[in-house]
Amino acid sequence: MIKRIGIDLGGHTISGGEVDFSGGAPRLVSPVTVRTPSERDPLSVLRAVEELALMWVSRGDECFIGIGVPGFVSKDRLAVLKLTNFKGCEGARVGTLIARDMRARGISAEVRLENDANCAAVGEHICGAARGMDDFAVLTLGSGIGAGLAANGRLIRGAHGMAGECGHMALCGEGFRGCFCGGAGHLEEAASADWVERRALERGLPGDFRVLWGMREKNGDARALIEASLDALARGIASICAALDPEAVILNGGMSRAEGMADELRGRATKYLPSPMRAVFRLLLSELGSSAAVMGAAALDGGM
Ligand SMILES: [Zn+2]
Repeated sequence: MIKRIGIDLGGHTISGGEVDFSGGAPRLVSPVTVRTPSERDPLSVLRAVEELALMWVSRGDECFIGIGVPGFVSKDRLAVLKLTNFKGCEGARVGTLIARDMRARGISAEVRLENDANCAAVGEHICGAARGMDDFAVLTLGSGIGAGLAANGRLIRGAHGMAGECGHMALCGEGFRGCFCGGAGHLEEAASADWVERRALERGLPGDFRVLWGMREKNGDARALIEASLDALARGIASICAALDPEAVILNGGMSRAEGMADELRGRATKYLPSPMRAVFRLLLSELGSSAAVMGAAALDGGM
């Protein structure tokens, strides 16, 4: 039987696990999380991902390894085009190299890369908050902002494989330094935890989104930072709804777990929606949390 391994490469940690699809609901078996190598260069990332995969596969195994990465991947899903928080990974054929290295160890591996938010969308669809939905968006709110969009039961990948990069929608006009992707005025720069924390540190506030969230009632500077982030996110969510008309927008990622965040965003996003969309607007929280991308990565060859 083919083993299915899902791996979620993040800027701070790499998570992985074998996913068992043999029973009713898919089950994540013995998940492991390790620290991302601080060098964040192609070779050390490759080694770390391979070491993780080898926890579940060994000589003689046949396996599918799906890898969620925080950025743009090639249309053939074998190379990374741009990982905004990593160094020199542009064009690295990570998928091809991992398959080759596994072969050298006597393991027959099909390897596929996918944007991490797309993996989270597949995960939510097979066993999370998007079960039974054909049209939905999963928005991952964390150090960066990602999105996985589905229409007619299929993940939207786009003409060049880059669809769904909603963190890079240019919603925010002037006054920003420039997004790590190379563009300007992007939602990610206006609203992501990393950027909010960066601005907080510059103002002498704690560089931790959860702490800022907790102190926003009493501290006007913290409140202003949080509100600017929420407002940008609300515009982003309303824009996704206008483009996709989803059954639901599902929030995942560390920021979304701040207490009351989804309720705040729901109210703010409603204001930006066209009136016919307000009655059908649904903003939900992920049911899988940090496992969504690992579960989805392991199911990337499932046809979604
Ligand atoms: Zn950008």
